[in-house]
Amino acid sequence: MKQAFIGFIILFLLAAGCSRNDLTDYMPMLTPGQVETGPRPTLTPSPSPYAATEPEQKDADQIQTDPPFIEEPAEIDYFAVKPDESGNIMIIMYHGITDENTPSYDRSTEGFLQDLNTLYSQGYRLISMSDLINNRISVEAGCTPVVLTFDDGRSSAFSLVETEDGLRVKPGCAVDLLLKFCGDHPDFGLAASFYINYYSEPFQGGGTVAERLNFLTAIGFEIGNHTYSHIQLNELDAIGIQEEIGRMDAWIKELTGTAPVALSYPFGIRPVSDLREVALNGSHGGIDYSYPIGLREGQSIVTANPAHVQFDPLNAPRVRGTDSSTSDNEVQDLGYFLRFYERNPNRRYISDGNPLRVAVPAGSKNLIDPDKLQGAELFVY
Ligand SMILES: [Zn+2]
Repeated sequence: MKQAFIGFIILFLLAAGCSRNDLTDYMPMLTPGQVETGPRPTLTPSPSPYAATEPEQKDADQIQTDPPFIEEPAEIDYFAVKPDESGNIMIIMYHGITDENTPSYDRSTEGFLQDLNTLYSQGYRLISMSDLINNRISVEAGCTPVVLTFDDGRSSAFSLVETEDGLRVKPGCAVDLLLKFCGDHPDFGLAASFYINYYSEPFQGGGTVAERLNFLTAIGFEIGNHTYSHIQLNELDAIGIQEEIGRMDAWIKELTGTAPVALSYPFGIRPVSDLREVALNGSHGGIDYSYPIGLREGQSIVTANPAHVQFDPLNAPRVRGTDSSTSDNEVQDLGYFLRFYERNPNRRYISDGNPLRVAVPAGSKNLIDPDKLQGAELFVY
């Protein structure tokens, strides 16, 4: 799916007679009143209707959940590639990209590009949150999947500028950097999800909120729920939790016609223990919502592998997208884990290239929960 999408973009660029480096300039543009009607690329299994200014309102039961089309993968020599799909997967948590006095939750432009370069050169490949949730992990055999997330709807993560030709991605934001990097490295994939609140207008800049969200999904990214007002969920009762999540859920569906892909707990803090289920499955204003996964910050367990026996979708771990470790200050952030997996490559998820097969060496079979395969075949070699 991802390779096909990158291929589409590259073909599009070639047709336009441009270099890959100009990728951002040729992404879909919106002009007031324009509604895109042609085919559009998507990485998600649920293509959303794409309205530029006044998105069509959809009922929850109209939202598409068609499974993604999966190409038949090439067979591999398992004993040569040595895939291990019981290994660790990272979900990386970013916020904004800031170059001045970078706060601890943000990343500098240089740091972000360094992360992408390191991930790519060390054999990590991007997958969407949907593919992780559905256990349909499609990366090249021998590579390790990784998921990028951005919280809080910061304009330095994504924003648009209004030009004479319509809306374009603002140069220098994370999406702009990602599009350029992935255009230069098409086998890296192109995927990320963005978790937004209502209280602080998402992705401030050009365009309406609906235009921003629909632009983002039109170029292959996913939108997630980060609650209505970015509140600590452990301070709320069941009604308050459902109001925070349900209002945001309804707003995103209204603007995009698509259900948010996942829930990200504000501050990484979950509801108190006996109210955790209502965060993922609840109801507000007579409308139900349902989330397959809740994202925290930090390591409840190390891996976000959806088929792993220890994986808990109520408490999916994320690695903070920073590099803060020094020799006397060990911080378990992205920099720490990239170095850890360099030293311990056998702890990484190594793909067999087949999204419908979970391949593990015989000694790791007990790390896979057969109830979490979601239709994939368990293959032990
Ligand atoms: Zn947040």
